Amino acid sequence: MRPDSQDQSETPAGPGGLPVRNGEITIAYQPILRGAAIAVMGYFLFDLVTRLAFPVPTHPEVMLLAVLAGALSAIGVRAYLRSDRSAAQLEVAGSILCLSLFLNSNLQQTLYFSDENLLYSVLMMPIFAAILPSRRTISVAIMMCFASLVWLVQTNIPERMSDYFWIGQSGVAAGIAIALILRNAVLNSVKARLDAIRDRETAEILAAEARHLAECDALTRLPNRRSFFLELESRLARLRSHGEPFVLGLVDLDGFKPVNDTYGHAAGDEMLKSVARRLTGIAGDSAMPARLGGDEFALIAPAPCTRTETVLQLGHRIEARLSEPYDLGEYTCKGSGSVGLLVCDDPVLSTHDIMERADHALYFAKRALQGKAVLFNAALEHEMTASSQIDKALRRCDYAAEFTVKFQPQYDLVKAKIVGFEALARWESPELGTVSPDVFIPAAERAGLIRPLTQVLLSKALAEMARWPDDLMLSFNLSAHDLMSPQAMDSVLDTVTASGMTASRIEFEITETAMMSDFNQARHAINRISQAGHSVALDDFGVGYSSLQYLQQLPVSKLKIDRSFVSAMLTDSSSFKIVRTMLSLSQTLDLGCVIEGVETEAQMHILRTLGARHVQGYLIGAPMAAADVLPRLSEPTELRPSAPESLASERMRTALG
Ligand code: C2E
Ligand code: CA
Ligand code: CA
Repeated sequence: MRPDSQDQSETPAGPGGLPVRNGEITIAYQPILRGAAIAVMGYFLFDLVTRLAFPVPTHPEVMLLAVLAGALSAIGVRAYLRSDRSAAQLEVAGSILCLSLFLNSNLQQTLYFSDENLLYSVLMMPIFAAILPSRRTISVAIMMCFASLVWLVQTNIPERMSDYFWIGQSGVAAGIAIALILRNAVLNSVKARLDAIRDRETAEILAAEARHLAECDALTRLPNRRSFFLELESRLARLRSHGEPFVLGLVDLDGFKPVNDTYGHAAGDEMLKSVARRLTGIAGDSAMPARLGGDEFALIAPAPCTRTETVLQLGHRIEARLSEPYDLGEYTCKGSGSVGLLVCDDPVLSTHDIMERADHALYFAKRALQGKAVLFNAALEHEMTASSQIDKALRRCDYAAEFTVKFQPQYDLVKAKIVGFEALARWESPELGTVSPDVFIPAAERAGLIRPLTQVLLSKALAEMARWPDDLMLSFNLSAHDLMSPQAMDSVLDTVTASGMTASRIEFEITETAMMSDFNQARHAINRISQAGHSVALDDFGVGYSSLQYLQQLPVSKLKIDRSFVSAMLTDSSSFKIVRTMLSLSQTLDLGCVIEGVETEAQMHILRTLGARHVQGYLIGAPMAAADVLPRLSEPTELRPSAPESLASERMRTALG
């Protein structure tokens, strides 16, 4: 309650000379005045009865009327003080009470003077000092009492003036003392109470702010991970108690890191805020979007209808909104998000189970259909169970015993001979049988086991390479996780050095996705590889972002064009154009280029006409056991399809995944 400027001049000084706020006066004096009004009313009513019982001989009606008026004014003041009043209103009410007593006493003395009754004039001073709420009213009241005392004495008994003057002075002193003591005591206690209330209010505001901060993501203002899980728990409780199903959506932006790396963190922040606004817009009031961290978002929405199409429509709306261009201040950029959806209608599932399922749907969306929504279904459930078996088997398996390396030839059309082999990992698990690298490499990455696996595979590949002719190259695949860890890179480079192999004979293949997770870290690792004398090939080129930035800023010496374009090249004109463009891009940038997945003579014929030089695929040879490498080299070097059985079995294995 801050006094406005007008009130401030009226604001009396409180204890210690500090200005007293009107609110404090109101709180302190309203009850005092209410009590005083009752006492004054009681006094006047008693006086009235006494006067009716023992009327004075002369003019009894004058005093009767005066006392009645005093009683009525006290009743009026009492009624007026039933509701809360301002400090100024309290001053007026107190003044009416005191004035009624003052006028009554002086009228009585004027009509029927008696020296004993002069005592009332003196008594009134401390009484008024106790009742009145402000220093100015107290001063006026005490001065009026003193003046009336002097006037009454002067008019009626002037010879006693000196006695009564000093008695009056004592009254003034008593009034001032009471005013000071009482006001200080009362206002101090009120101030303390108000301070305590204010402290509590401040503490409550701070606590609410802290709660808000603890529940909200500071950048996007969306509920954070913690509130998301609290909400998930409560929706789950409602599902169990009332059978209310809901939809859980997990959203992961595709290629957010490149935006951060290319345009800077301010632009990245802007993009995240924009995503938050879009999700809020889609979600509506009944749903809760949240930011789980980084570029991961989530959405909990009611599921009035659990039909697949309805839920997928929500996913498609998210996809569509996230694919709209982002205005990042100076730049506008494209973006997209993968969405994993789950209908939560099974009360038996725990929060962990639910998150695992939605996460798996998201993982599938990210892996297979970047920028699309995927609803968790029975097939994914089956896949998830298998992948958890793979995780378990990976954790307890003996890498050296169970993992082997196969080698797939890379053919130079100009030299008309095999110039190198790509090492490809194989896992023969005693529990699970043959597991495809497309399955166990991502599983090892997820489980944080790729580093020791890379180590074992590289050592095995290098050991085989030691038996090869000196002009043969080895291509070895590195995982994004290897690049992200300086220690993993240390051990990769140390292993090559320890093998004694010439660095230039070993090429490392890196996928574009490795660049996307953290471009700066990837650049650092690739520079180290290149400085150690190895060449670097960008694998699966064309599948991801195919960003020229990677080619310009990194010491990459080769592109590997993904086999998906080659396999579709004869039937799909855009695949054909992509292969042609990427081939001329590599020539323009003076980069080597390997075409992957060449399976037929027809494909090879077209590739030759397009000027391709290096090819790899079943037509030249399927991945072969280490023992078959040297015999293969001694075979005639002209092109020939792989042995039907080995090709068939390799195809079967790849298809079975
Ligand atoms: P990638 O690096 O693109 O390897 C080429 C894949 O294409 C291999 O699959 C190979 O067997 C297959 N392939 C080669 N020629 C043809 C063809 O003419 N037709 C068809 N349909 N397929 C062909 P694979 O061996 O199943 O490996 C799959 C992926 O697993 C690899 O793709 C690579 O990304 C990963 N991978 C394999 N070995 C390793 C490894 O030692 N380390 C890491 N980090 N990743 C590996
Ligand atoms: Ca590769
Ligand atoms: Ca590849």
